[in-house]
Amino acid sequence: WWSQIKAGAPDPIFSVTEAYRADANPQKVLLGVGAYRTDEGMPFILPCVQRAKDMLGEQKLDHEYLPQGGYSEFNRAAARLALGEESDVLKNGLNLTVQALGGTGAIRLGMTFLSRFHTGCKVVYIPNPTWNNHKNISLNSGMEWKFYKYYDPEQKGMNFCGMCEDIENIPEKSIILFHAIAHNPTGFDPSPDQWKRLSNLCMERNLFVFFDMAYQGFATGDAEKDASSVRQFIEDGHQVAVAQSFSKNMGLYGERIGALTLVTTSKEELERVNSQMKIVIRAMYSNPPLYGARIVSQVLNEQALRCQWLKDIQGMANRIQSVRQLLVAELKKVGSEKNWEHICKQIGMFSFTGLNKEQVEKLTKEHSVYLTADGRISVASLGGKNIPYVARAIHEVSK
Ligand code: PMP
Repeated sequence: WWSQIKAGAPDPIFSVTEAYRADANPQKVLLGVGAYRTDEGMPFILPCVQRAKDMLGEQKLDHEYLPQGGYSEFNRAAARLALGEESDVLKNGLNLTVQALGGTGAIRLGMTFLSRFHTGCKVVYIPNPTWNNHKNISLNSGMEWKFYKYYDPEQKGMNFCGMCEDIENIPEKSIILFHAIAHNPTGFDPSPDQWKRLSNLCMERNLFVFFDMAYQGFATGDAEKDASSVRQFIEDGHQVAVAQSFSKNMGLYGERIGALTLVTTSKEELERVNSQMKIVIRAMYSNPPLYGARIVSQVLNEQALRCQWLKDIQGMANRIQSVRQLLVAELKKVGSEKNWEHICKQIGMFSFTGLNKEQVEKLTKEHSVYLTADGRISVASLGGKNIPYVARAIHEVSK
């Protein structure tokens, strides 16, 4: 049956992990995948999550099916976190929020829904560069994707003018995707003023705005602040879609927990949208898994745990920030005369180092430092132990 199949291209992120695993060098370092590590390089169970798990463990919880839309307490908490306690949309009950299989699942569900029901142009405009999976998800949902400008490699910063110019030329009623916070891979976000301008521009062009929010709280350590782009657009009257992930900000990577919110204009409309969303979900995976939803719901709905969570994300964001400084200081110490200041200016889990493909190859081949070909490193995987080694290796290949 499969003799005609041609081998598919390996995933640019997961293939880095595979190559790392196969490397016998004891000094090898994995900076490919975006997963937070402790300063000692170990996976991190957030204290708030551990406490939620302990509390859940004491209850005799059953394993019944959830409805298609998922765990309602989780959905309410996720929507409050994204839209804010004071959101009029929430107060008026105009948000449809459903549980999803991580951020990826939320984007996939949203895109599948749009490919079926969006009446405008079925092209998704994504930033250049972006998280590579945006392309796959768009295509697999039956939509085309196109780039808008985002990054200026010369300046090592955002190309906001280019971005606006491109958006001005997007056909009306197309779909535009923004990273709500901590743009992956560049680590550069629009300022609040720039978000406001983008919101106006999207309104003028009559674009459907899709937010991918994979790092809320993780970027600045302040969950409210990190959601301000989404809240600004909603306040300005956009009927956005928001895909949330709890993989990073609760360290629940493998539990596959996320949420999709659509903003509707009336209760009656919401019911119709919801009925179709349930049909889409039923055919894809029937209903989502329980455990991650129980944990997130416990953390966000229990006052003491929520306070602990705010401390936990602040701690992670602070450590990442200090690692950025340490890496740049170490690069100087080992003799690099290049300007690495952009590493400190970027936010979120990643740094877009500016290393080119050849330098990345050398870094991997000669020093067993594993990262994606675009020069992105997961800063959250650096710590006291490996920073000197990585800094020396980067200096060697970038001299
Ligand atoms: N969007 C972006 C921008 C991401 O970086 C990621 C995770 N790497 C996701 C979505 C998906 O997250 P999840 O693991 O929850 O599917």
